[in-house]
Amino acid sequence: MGTVDSLKSETRSSSVLLPENSNSRQSFSRKSRILHSAKIYCLSVGKRFILYVVVAACFILAFISLNSKLSFETYDYSKAEFNWKYDPRSKGLVPYDNKLDDYNILLDAHSHTTSSDGRLSPKQLVDLAISNGYNAIIVSDHNTISGGLKAEKYAKEAHPNDIIVIPAMEYS
Ligand SMILES: [Zn+2]
Repeated sequence: MGTVDSLKSETRSSSVLLPENSNSRQSFSRKSRILHSAKIYCLSVGKRFILYVVVAACFILAFISLNSKLSFETYDYSKAEFNWKYDPRSKGLVPYDNKLDDYNILLDAHSHTTSSDGRLSPKQLVDLAISNGYNAIIVSDHNTISGGLKAEKYAKEAHPNDIIVIPAMEYS
């Protein structure tokens, strides 16, 4: 019974104290509400900030990769020279099938010049083939035979004993 009395008195005393403290309680709950909404706001701003950083990083990476690719694409080969000659037989290169005896043709069967999307002129392409030991190439530009004809003309005039050029065209 004594505990019930003390509980009652506590309840009574708190109910008596409540009106005196109601102002500070209200301001406290308003503060906590403001703090709570500030916390939510900060969290959402933080999330958004992280999202922006990730998106910006993606854009920067895309830009860097695209830029390096573009700078690679625009590399100027117009002054490139291939003024040496390599004979693969001098390195003891043997044919895959010995029954065929010594090979006498090393053919690049697919090449492009500046007449389509290649980076080398017909002359440069012929020089490159000779410098790498080829003695026959098929110049097969996209939808045009002009690169192949130019390469053939140059090869016949400048390197008649070094290389055979077969003009061709790649339909695409
Ligand atoms: Zn091709």
